[in-house]
Amino acid sequence: MKPSQRISQMNLDGSDGWEVFLRARGLCDAGHKIIELTIGEHDIRTDPSILKAMHASAIAGNTGYAMVPGLQELRKAVASRIMQRTGVPTDIENVMITTGGQAALYAAHAATCDPGDTALYVEPYYATYPSTLRAQNLNAVSVPTHAKHGFEPRKTDLEPLILGARSLLINSPNNPSGTVYSRQTHEMIADLCKKYDLWLISDEVYDTQVWDGMHFSPRALPEMAKRTLIIGSMSKSHAMTGSRVGWIVGPKDMILKLIDLATNTTYGVPGFIQEGALFALSLGSSFEEKIGAPFRRRRQIALNILKKFPAVRAIDPKGAMYLMVDISATGLTGEEFANRLLDERQIAVMPGESFGASAAGHLRIAMTIEDDQFASALKTLCEFATQLALELPHG
Ligand code: PMP
Repeated sequence: MKPSQRISQMNLDGSDGWEVFLRARGLCDAGHKIIELTIGEHDIRTDPSILKAMHASAIAGNTGYAMVPGLQELRKAVASRIMQRTGVPTDIENVMITTGGQAALYAAHAATCDPGDTALYVEPYYATYPSTLRAQNLNAVSVPTHAKHGFEPRKTDLEPLILGARSLLINSPNNPSGTVYSRQTHEMIADLCKKYDLWLISDEVYDTQVWDGMHFSPRALPEMAKRTLIIGSMSKSHAMTGSRVGWIVGPKDMILKLIDLATNTTYGVPGFIQEGALFALSLGSSFEEKIGAPFRRRRQIALNILKKFPAVRAIDPKGAMYLMVDISATGLTGEEFANRLLDERQIAVMPGESFGASAAGHLRIAMTIEDDQFASALKTLCEFATQLALELPHG
């Protein structure tokens, strides 16, 4: 029996960009010692106090079907958090709790686009973006950006692709590049969304991880709240990747439609997980800073190391838990470099090409291992790149 055309063409070229990651995992399983700087997950686990709150909730009987849109208290906590951080009036009816940011991304596109519609997303992008859109038979079109502009989209990148498109997906702070869009970039994007009548889907799952400047949500710009869906998640802000809890914030009529969709897909998020999330949010911003602190520290460690190695140039890492570096001085593609680094130095990183052609010749390095080990792995990577660059025939 044949699977549907929809599901078959999710990964167009048969590649989803995770080959180096999977090869590294295979080598680990076979007993090799590999340093993994591939995946966006904290090196700490969910705080025991959050687990205790989940446990207490489950033991108290909160194990039945939960309200599909989410617990009132959690929706309220998310609404006030968003209002506090962005100044935009937001209440319970603007919020739906989802099974993580990924389910929110899927639902946001299902709710805004019809099969065949053009849905735009910006390069370099989180690896699931194109397949999330293609799984819904959307015409997924990526907007190129340029390393020399810090991977922030410009009007000249976006406007030629926008006519007739239904939605635009952006992500700031950005995975994989660590870019944080300026207010001007957000204003340019908002103006184009209004001019060409697009939905803006703003993936803000790294909103608590900004190392330079402030997080800004485009929903706060004039006339944008009615055409913006925010994607949020507890995964990164609270080290709760495995709990699968996130949200969509948007116009009330849209949230009602999204609740219909959730009723027929996830049927909501387990109640005891939501109670844990509610407790986690009650810990406030000092807890969020504590969760982000290791990345802030490692970013500084990385910048100090990279200064000494001109063969490896960093894209200014303004946010998120990643470092994107340009290794084109080695004469290798990101993929070639990542494969050789794995085989010859036993270090796994993600090739830039996994995140779109704009990031070719780059690597994404996750800052997700303990400081000393991270510093030593990055130094080894830089020395390897320097050696390759020196071996290049010149002239
Ligand atoms: N958006 C971005 C940009 C991400 O990096 C991730 C996870 N790495 C997600 C969404 C999805 O995260 P989750 O489903 O765990 O909330």
